[in-house]
Amino acid sequence: MKSIPYGRQHITQADIDAVVEVLRADYLTQGPKIAEFEQAFANYIGSRYAVAVANGTAALHLCTLALGVQPGNKVITTPITFAASANCVRYAGGDVVFADIEPETYLLDIKKVEELLNNAPEGTYKGIIPVDFAGRSVDLEAFRKLADKYNCWIIEDACHAPGGYFIDSNEKKQFCGNSQFADLAIFSFHPVKHIAAGEGGMITTNDEKLYQKLLTLRTHGILKDVELFQNSPQVAYGNNHEAENTNTATYPGWYYEMQELGFNYRLTDFQAALGNEQLKRADEGLKRRREIAQTYDEAFKGKSFIKGQSGVVDGHAYHLYVIEVNNRKELYEHLRANNIFVQIHYVPVHLMPYYRQFGWKNGDLPAAERYYNRCISLPMYPTLTDEEQQYVIQKINECYE
Ligand SMILES: *Cc1c(COP(=O)(O)O)cnc(C)c1O
Repeated sequence: MKSIPYGRQHITQADIDAVVEVLRADYLTQGPKIAEFEQAFANYIGSRYAVAVANGTAALHLCTLALGVQPGNKVITTPITFAASANCVRYAGGDVVFADIEPETYLLDIKKVEELLNNAPEGTYKGIIPVDFAGRSVDLEAFRKLADKYNCWIIEDACHAPGGYFIDSNEKKQFCGNSQFADLAIFSFHPVKHIAAGEGGMITTNDEKLYQKLLTLRTHGILKDVELFQNSPQVAYGNNHEAENTNTATYPGWYYEMQELGFNYRLTDFQAALGNEQLKRADEGLKRRREIAQTYDEAFKGKSFIKGQSGVVDGHAYHLYVIEVNNRKELYEHLRANNIFVQIHYVPVHLMPYYRQFGWKNGDLPAAERYYNRCISLPMYPTLTDEEQQYVIQKINECYE
């Protein structure tokens, strides 16, 4: 049996054709495929705007910049996530405060967040970054209520959950990243995620001001729109003396202004073409992920040695299928020995040496640490065959005979 990873991309001939078409066309970057992908993605997610960027981490970085995170600002996130969800706060000079997870859902525990907010002087915390961990949506409606009470913004890290949703208090499906409740949401197009573009990321929002700011920050903070210039024609014409005409409409065609410090976080057009083609099959992939999850659920039903993520899971997008077991290391090694390359998601971010230097230590977040000692992510990707999945289940059961 060939090796079975925990996740992998699915590239079709249509994907290849879409990329090749761009390679033969005029624009490798800054071309028409970017806007096309952004529009299609916004439609899929149900947000007003989408901004394509180089990767999910760049997306997070631009979000903290757009929201104005400053040195000393405190932002709350979960320890059970990829490090980037926290690092983006540090990029902007802010401080990361980790709150514990709910032991049943593995998501950022809103009660723990509330405790932090409640016990600090007003204005201590600027924002919250909840993560739709494994593909399960956080209750953003509840987080929004809390954030409003304490004047915080929300960045939803939806990297695991394109197509996932939760049901709001009006019985309405709220799709992850639709920015109905969050200020900004972000996605990644790394090959293990639902939509693969090699590298790539997307920010979604309904806020026009933030949208404009993100566009500028994505490209060096440079503006080309005459309307937005700061009325300095002597610079515009390269004259040292005072220009006689200060009418902004007379700026020369070559002129641009860098008004703030931005980055080059652009996505290329061939990546956008790949992402867009993949997006067309996103629902198909999601359907298959949910089937696979159901097969695992049924196989493990009544097995006392396995505990899975529990609760209502209608809108789960199943980026990961996570179980908890007592003898995790043994299971991990048994599966690896049988060519099943399971993974652990995640080593808690607060226990990374980098974050320990800020005082975080073992025992600070008991639910997250207990989860980490027991968790293992099983193979979960649309092209996993029934036969392969049965093999995985068989090898897991073997470990407990
Ligand atoms: C993948 C991922 C990121 C980072 O995305 P990249 O595209 O790899 O930079 C951030 N947060 C979460 C939860 C992720 O899974």
